[in-house]
Amino acid sequence: MKRILVTGGAGFIGSHICEKLLDEGNEVICLDNFFTGSKRNIIHLMDNPYFELVRHDIIVPYFAEVDEIYNFACPASPIHYQFNPIKTLKTSLMGSINMLGLAKRVKAKIMQASTSEVYGNPIIHPQTEDYWGNVNPIGPRSCYDEGKRAAETVFFDYHRQNGVKIKVIRIFNTYGPRMNANDGRVVSNFIVQALQNQPITIYGDGSQTRSFQYIDDLLNGVFSMMKTPNDFTGPVNIGNPYEFSIKQLAEKIIDMTNSKSKITYLDLPQDDPLQRKPNISLAKEKLNWTPKIHLEEGLKITIEYFDKLLKNNKL
Ligand code: NAD
Ligand code: UDP
Repeated sequence: MKRILVTGGAGFIGSHICEKLLDEGNEVICLDNFFTGSKRNIIHLMDNPYFELVRHDIIVPYFAEVDEIYNFACPASPIHYQFNPIKTLKTSLMGSINMLGLAKRVKAKIMQASTSEVYGNPIIHPQTEDYWGNVNPIGPRSCYDEGKRAAETVFFDYHRQNGVKIKVIRIFNTYGPRMNANDGRVVSNFIVQALQNQPITIYGDGSQTRSFQYIDDLLNGVFSMMKTPNDFTGPVNIGNPYEFSIKQLAEKIIDMTNSKSKITYLDLPQDDPLQRKPNISLAKEKLNWTPKIHLEEGLKITIEYFDKLLKNNKL
């Protein structure tokens, strides 16, 4: 049995990681400051004696004897990470330094949840891991993008300087049950709007593209990466290369929910990337991983999840 620390464990992705690790017979410490996460995401784990919930902010050091660390704490949606940009940057950078310091002391293997946002508004398409990105260092998204880039830097410096065993994954847009309905991300926004027959809010003309992966595919990538030999550090892209425009997504969700919603067009936020699609050759080669869940299949489960929350007044 391993003792595993999951930072951001009460969030969307972190809660799924905690659940799977417990299912596999590990002991899990879930660390969260509940900025965007919620106890509802992990309430079903609370009576498991091998699950420990700690309210803690990772910008403050934390000490525990652990074998592995999944560093997933960080607000991930533009409205949340822009709410307190200085805190976002501190979470990515100081939080990573604290977790790397812990990993160094206890010789734990540590994974960083990096992001496709390190590529910024990419000029290379699809994005490969050797692309250095096109990021505005002083814009409204910089606290997140540059914070995650700086986090990658300290991960690699701790690896080179102190021999810390690191695993860096660059996660592309992910969706599924337990997404936060209030964080303004496109899949949850469109589904909740469509289920309530409210206007679907497309920012810009909807021609910008994204490639969304379903949570289960991401989880398979995460755990495959953690099991790779120590000499494979990443960074490795984990995402679904199936690319579509935001307008196509709106139309699909309206169709799948039989909604009466009409599309309304609002301003495109500053620095909103125009296109995004992962090249996943490295993940295929090193992790033997490819995403398996088609968009419609994943959307169906996610629509059911939000429909249930709405019907129970739990949104
Ligand atoms: P989320 O907001 O649901 O989860 C983040 C969790 O971190 C929350 O529970 C929050 O309360 C916690 N947290 C934030 N700041 C903290 C701090 N200072 N100390 C302790 N806990 C803190 O977001 P998510 O979608 O689950 O994202 C999880 C991770 O994956 C993030 O690091 C994010 O950057 C990364 N990621 C997510 C996506 C995506 O599409 N969801 C894409 C790329 C990368
Ligand atoms: N978006 C949109 N309407 C919404 C929410 C988002 O058109 O109600 C757009 C947003 O401008 C972006 C894309 O959808 O182009 C994905 O946004 P999200 O915040 O989900 O992810 P990110 O921009 O971080 O990739």
